[in-house]
Amino acid sequence: MSDQVSSILKAWGEPAYRLTQVEDARRAGAREWEDVTTLPKDLRARLADVVPLWSVTPDAMAESRDGTLKWRLRTADGLAIESVLIKHARGRRTLCVSSQAGCALGCRFCATGKMGPGRDLTAREIADQALLAADAARMADARLSNVVFMGMGEPLQNTVAVFDAIREMHSPKGLGISARSIAVSTAGWVPGIEELVAFEVPVRLALSLHAADDDTRSALMPVNNRWPIANVLAACRRYADRTGRRVFIEYLLLEGVNDSPADARRLAAQLRDGRFHVNLIEYNATGGEYRGSSPDRVRRFSEELSDAGLFPSLRRSRGADIAAACGQLANS
Ligand code: SF4
Repeated sequence: MSDQVSSILKAWGEPAYRLTQVEDARRAGAREWEDVTTLPKDLRARLADVVPLWSVTPDAMAESRDGTLKWRLRTADGLAIESVLIKHARGRRTLCVSSQAGCALGCRFCATGKMGPGRDLTAREIADQALLAADAARMADARLSNVVFMGMGEPLQNTVAVFDAIREMHSPKGLGISARSIAVSTAGWVPGIEELVAFEVPVRLALSLHAADDDTRSALMPVNNRWPIANVLAACRRYADRTGRRVFIEYLLLEGVNDSPADARRLAAQLRDGRFHVNLIEYNATGGEYRGSSPDRVRRFSEELSDAGLFPSLRRSRGADIAAACGQLANS
């Protein structure tokens, strides 16, 4: 993958194995150049003068009652991003990774969207979030088993870096995470979905749909004005056909906005072809205008979908007490 350290070592005429030594040391827990003891001392000192060993550095951490960890990380140019490590049974951990610092798409229910556009993260900055999380999991006798691109930013607006980072996470020389354990979540950025169709690693695709009709969706997610539901579902179908994997439809239930039985029937009518699996998600209030649906409305919505043969999963948000749940990442 494109990497500043690699270019510097090359420019200085260092042999190729130096980069492997650096990568091995990072994986073994080195935090500073002086910890990379396999490199000659003078080379470590020269590198320390020009480039950080890690592209992101943790500068704050919070732990939720349910064991979820949220880090605030600083990029070398001082931007703050967040990643979240979710605890599961049997020592498994899922990392929710950020792909941009901020987000230009402005979904109304999302704390990151309220921050406005930041910049695309580099492949190194994305992959380093996963390497740091894998290290933290190891220290807790657990393993990083899954990565989801559901942190800050729209990953399919930053495909070159995101795909490079995925290659490293997936590679046996990197973290060796299987393609089906990596999920890319999009708000419906259709050119990015088309690029994903051509991408060689068959990761899972999740579409944040959150509404069953264009008027409601455009009010919640301005990106829908550019690519309405029919267009984005058509692109998702192409991805499902290419990979043979069902696309996850993420649906936040918002009281009185998108959670009526009629909404559920409208949703089911568009997703009945066997290429989709619906995840219904609890909404975490971020101090805005929306409220999560009551348990009774969630149950009725879910029953309507099941009656239509869709059998949704109900996702409980994790880490809500530390603002680490879906839609809550905003550097608090
Ligand atoms: S939900 Fe995703 S795409 Fe929408 S504003 Fe938030 S980070 Fe951006």
